[in-house]
Amino acid sequence: MRKSILLLVLPVIFISQCARVPVTGRTQLKLISNDVIIPMSFDEYKKVKETATVITEGNQVEMVKKAGSRIQKAVEVYFKDLGKENYLTSYEWEFNLIEDDKTANAWCMPGGKVAFYTGIMPICQDETGVAVVMGHEIAHAIANHGRERVSQTVAAQTGLSIVSIALGGGASTLTGEMIMQGAGAVTSMGILKFSRKHESEADEMGLYFMAMAGYDPNAAPAFWERMAGEGGDSPPEFLSTHPSHDTRISDLKKNIPKAMEYYNKYN
Ligand SMILES: [Zn+2]
Repeated sequence: MRKSILLLVLPVIFISQCARVPVTGRTQLKLISNDVIIPMSFDEYKKVKETATVITEGNQVEMVKKAGSRIQKAVEVYFKDLGKENYLTSYEWEFNLIEDDKTANAWCMPGGKVAFYTGIMPICQDETGVAVVMGHEIAHAIANHGRERVSQTVAAQTGLSIVSIALGGGASTLTGEMIMQGAGAVTSMGILKFSRKHESEADEMGLYFMAMAGYDPNAAPAFWERMAGEGGDSPPEFLSTHPSHDTRISDLKKNIPKAMEYYNKYN
């Protein structure tokens, strides 16, 4: 396709290939549908589970699974209230704890596949602390940050790919590695990062989600204060593009009154 034609077509495609983030209402780029992203994400998650040591019993994994399913259910009720329960149909939630004491991290792949590493558990301290991290991770999935990230990557790579994907012809050329980049998960290249905007948005949405599930949102700034005291070789994905700790903590505190409205409405 000639460049001049591309320039005519692209704006139309961008306009029609956007989505709106729930809760915040932000407009985001969407060049690929969840029908493409989510099955690929599930394949990648399966591979992680096959290679990692997944913990199956004990207090820590029970907290991860409990906080995960409480927040999942709260989010489902929230979308039902909005009359948008279809939004979640392709999600298949899963909450696993992976043995790795040196990694103070957690992540969520598109479609609701969450992993915590044991290294983050002492910083979480209890189920409410787990819910702080869980809310943040679930928010990445609900906000389709992985899909947006892949869309941005594809957009940056080549205009022609945008056209072919937007027209439905190029989806098969997306690789699992690109999905992993989008998911902000671990690949052979290490931990890849969401944008700072994504992190701030996940903080805000995650705060509301934990509150909807009946967890005290005041635990969130307290968690980040503990996290700020942690160093180490593997910064969590949610520290990787740092809004600074101070900004993050003050933003969370600013959003607590709104989180309490959700808390009171749903509990
Ligand atoms: Zn994050």
